[in-house]
Amino acid sequence: MATFELRGLIKAYGKTRVIHGIDLLIADGEFVVFVGPSGCGKSTTLRMIAGLEEVTGGEIRIGDRVVNEVDPKERNLAMVFQNYAIYPHMSVRQNIAFGLYTSPLSKADKARKVDEAGALLGLTPLLDRRPAALSGGQRQRVAIGRAMVRDPVGFLFDEPLSNLDAQLRAQMRIEIKDLHRRLGTTIAYVTHDQVEAMTMADRIVVMKDGHILQAAPPMEIYDNP
Ligand code: ADP
Ligand code: ADP
Repeated sequence: MATFELRGLIKAYGKTRVIHGIDLLIADGEFVVFVGPSGCGKSTTLRMIAGLEEVTGGEIRIGDRVVNEVDPKERNLAMVFQNYAIYPHMSVRQNIAFGLYTSPLSKADKARKVDEAGALLGLTPLLDRRPAALSGGQRQRVAIGRAMVRDPVGFLFDEPLSNLDAQLRAQMRIEIKDLHRRLGTTIAYVTHDQVEAMTMADRIVVMKDGHILQAAPPMEIYDNP
């Protein structure tokens, strides 16, 4: 588990600045949801935490380590993004195990971790199925399982539910919140859906034009809009 800290974080594409020096401390075990209009910089911020975008200025810390120059794989974060890539020719079990593909763990330890993740995500009866025989929500859980087995220090979610229908979204909101409660892991979550923010966040970060407008618990944000 770890804190995520942004210090004077800046991002420019060419000469255009899109993130204007933001400061934010996400506490160990905190669930923070980024909201704001399309183009305000939510996804770019998350991608910089992930290491998928270079930082133009300022610092990103994970725990007590500055990670600006650290390779994404070395950051030990789980990323669950909208276009979850699960492999159609592999079973659920194999898809989850793929997260441990290059892990030095023994075969038995890997199998145990996959079973544990499957159980935690309610996938046990589905472990031998192919993704084609799963619902959208179940597939999303496979993607979460694959990230989870790596024992990440935190999770990054970028609009993970936008491809799901309303009923599945409602169910997955509860499941992700529940997962957070059980794992106690730090989560940074991007969405444009206010209901997701309200129901899941410990704290909502409202962004606009590359700035943070507000960072507060849901009740405070929506009582004083
Ligand atoms: P959000 O996730 O809040 O919708 P983004 O972080 O995707 O916003 O984008 C923030 C701004 O950065 C937008 O103005 C967008 O057009 C711009 N942007 C994002 N990615 C690139 C890129 N690869 N090249 C140039 N501009 C980009
Ligand atoms: P590779 O060198 O093939 O990327 P890794 O052990 O780094 O080996 O990753 C194996 C697989 O685990 C990846 O292809 C991807 O499916 C999944 N994976 C890797 N990193 C992450 C991550 N941070 N979050 C979620 N899944 C990941």
